Amino acid sequence: MTPDFIIQTAYFAAAFLFIYGLKRMSSPVTARSGIVWAGWGMVVAVLASFLYVLDVNESAKPHLTTNIVLVAIALALGLGWAWRSGKKVEMTAMPQMVALYNGMGGGAAAAIAAIELFGYKTHGSIVLTMAVLGGLIGAMALSGSLIAWAKLDGRVNGTWRFSGLQAVNGSLLLVLLAMGGYTIVQGGEVSHAFIAVFFILALFYGVMMTMPIGGADMPVVISLYNAFTGLAVGFEGYVLQNPALMIAGMVVGSAGTLLTLLMAKAMNRSVSNVLFSNFGAAAEEEGEIEGSMKPADASDAAIQMRYASKVIIAPGYGLAVAQAQHKLFEFVKLLQANDVDVKFAIHPVAGRMPGHMNVLLAEAGVPYDIIYDMEDINEEFAQADVAVVVGANDTVNPAARTNKSSPIYGMPILNVDKARQVYVVKRGKGKGYSGVENELFYADNCNMVYGDAQKVMVDMLTAVKELEGGGH
Ligand code: NDP
Repeated sequence: MTPDFIIQTAYFAAAFLFIYGLKRMSSPVTARSGIVWAGWGMVVAVLASFLYVLDVNESAKPHLTTNIVLVAIALALGLGWAWRSGKKVEMTAMPQMVALYNGMGGGAAAAIAAIELFGYKTHGSIVLTMAVLGGLIGAMALSGSLIAWAKLDGRVNGTWRFSGLQAVNGSLLLVLLAMGGYTIVQGGEVSHAFIAVFFILALFYGVMMTMPIGGADMPVVISLYNAFTGLAVGFEGYVLQNPALMIAGMVVGSAGTLLTLLMAKAMNRSVSNVLFSNFGAAAEEEGEIEGSMKPADASDAAIQMRYASKVIIAPGYGLAVAQAQHKLFEFVKLLQANDVDVKFAIHPVAGRMPGHMNVLLAEAGVPYDIIYDMEDINEEFAQADVAVVVGANDTVNPAARTNKSSPIYGMPILNVDKARQVYVVKRGKGKGYSGVENELFYADNCNMVYGDAQKVMVDMLTAVKELEGGGH
């Protein structure tokens, strides 16, 4: 067995593990093990890369051995940092972490491109094109993901626009494409300064593209950068003739593209509309919302649900903040024991990352057959006695249906307002991610149960238990 044979076989095995892992991620039941399978694929791919030292001619070996030391140091640093941050990250900070890691992937692809382009290696035009494209997309994904991270982390607030922004961005893209094209035509024989400017502009373009996007559109952007990173890694895999990178890149690229399309569909927008329109730029004309917010006790709300026949729960980002999923499920089980039909309604962009609510509910052990996607349950709200909104806001905001000047106008929402009675569990008057007022809270059939979702769920549980205890 030659080292090359072992390396190629290992890459094939890694690619298989990535695809198998991804396949398992398509169902919540097997998703956790899917991550582990794909993780093993990564271990195999990394180990196989070390075998290169056996596989090259003798003259290159001293050079490679020095590199191996550098690689080992980089791996140790990366592993240590990722292990530590992965262990201590709060569930609510997970989306930021995903954005950051995604950016790192794009950055790594751009770094490969930079080494190839700065190194004046002789390349055919196809390889050079791949290197240039991967470098451009990877650098954009790096800086764009960092801005997305800052927005999700609340370090950058709101959107940033000026008139003519689209023209500036369009020109920037044209300049980048022209510079990339020139590099290819010149067979890579361009000055270091030229290549440096190319990368700096690509990074700047990522910032310029992401800064104007905000409000409820962030999920589309995050999944788009996910797709970009995959694509960049795939291109650079071709440059390095590394099948594991190529396949992993294409898998991430296509999964990211599908996710982007799904997220855009969930927002009822096209991807280009999210990226290039000035939609949402106009200040929202909020106007006076009629009615008032009517507070209710957690215990009264709980007892009404205990005697209801159908209850639908709409969870949102606040559920993750409060980590109230376990108490919520305990309450649900109590209702079910009293023959109440309870269902969960999941909005595709609820929370701060795709699938956020599914992850939370799975963590609490909520069975999948009572969790429904928005389009499968929206009709049912009209028959529900009670709809309970737990820490959700934008995803239940009727302004998306009616207020044309609202940044979330056109986004499909959960029809909680159609239920006979709506209870909204939230701490106070805090707005949702998009910063828009919610007229649902003022509706006649809506009452506010103020408090941290975890505390409210405990109060609800206690109320029903006391009722039952008193009844015996
Ligand atoms: P929102 O962000 O619209 O609202 C969350 C609400 O939860 C707030 O109004 C807040 O009100 C309340 N809340 C916060 N902490 C608690 C707590 N401890 N207990 C109880 N309530 C709490 O949530 P949604 O899930 O409805 O909407 C998600 C939004 O995030 C959408 O705009 C979406 O586009 C965006 N987004 C989604 C991403 C994704 O991939 N899913 C990624 C990036 C953005 P109060 O402060 O009064 O308690």
